[in-house]
Amino acid sequence: MSGLKVELVDLDPERPGVYASYIVDTGGPLAVVDVGPASTVERLAERIGGRPVHVFITHVHLDHAGGLGHLVREARVERVYVHPRGARHLVDPSRLWVASVEVLGSTALEYGEPLPVPGELIYTPQPGEEIVVGDVGFKVVAAEGHASHQYAYLAGDVLFPGDALGEVYGGDLLILTPPPFMAGESIATLDRFQRLKARVAALPHFGIHEDPGGLARRYKAKLLWALGLAAETGGAAELASKLLGDEETARALGELRRRRGHWEGYLERCANGLLGYVERFGWR
Ligand SMILES: [Zn+2]
Repeated sequence: MSGLKVELVDLDPERPGVYASYIVDTGGPLAVVDVGPASTVERLAERIGGRPVHVFITHVHLDHAGGLGHLVREARVERVYVHPRGARHLVDPSRLWVASVEVLGSTALEYGEPLPVPGELIYTPQPGEEIVVGDVGFKVVAAEGHASHQYAYLAGDVLFPGDALGEVYGGDLLILTPPPFMAGESIATLDRFQRLKARVAALPHFGIHEDPGGLARRYKAKLLWALGLAAETGGAAELASKLLGDEETARALGELRRRRGHWEGYLERCANGLLGYVERFGWR
């Protein structure tokens, strides 16, 4: 067992079991991994209270970092760690916001508009670097693929993978490959995860799962299957319906709908990411 104290914060009471942040008790400042969207930041700020905070951002998508500028105003955020390519979107989120509204539509509005994060709070580590907060070391793990600027963090034997392992609902895996999805990098990330000595993975969507190596293997197989389908399918709608033919995908989406109210556009976005990759780089 890990001695690490990790608390899951279920961020959205209206959509329980969909968006998580994690708070790690380090013996010094609190460490928070991802802060969730702007719309749910109050709940996280309440849990943090008046304690100083170091924030680890896996990637800057709105449902992971959209609330950071708001949190800076509501809590004692001392330091923010993020991939070098993600930092500028935290400092000036205007382009990210426009792009998110374009890709996500009403879901972006549901997440809320991000506020700028003061640049002096931001530190951009390199992969392999260890960041020590209190008594806990966070190893920075390259995790590109789902996003070109994603990091995972390993603290003790707990892996914070961001969206690199997809989404898991009720034990069922769901691909998470919106454009610009990078398949080669994604698979390299999953191989890297299998080499880590992690006991559990703390997933943003959703929850703490045993055996991250096994999950990475399953996710890699699922991505390879989806990419194979993408290589022989022309359009996003057709690919989405083929993806839905997978029983595990259908079950996971059913569970997501139960928790979140809908999964409108989810598979089409994933299909667009897969097709975009296959069209640019080929597959077979
Ligand atoms: Zn994401």
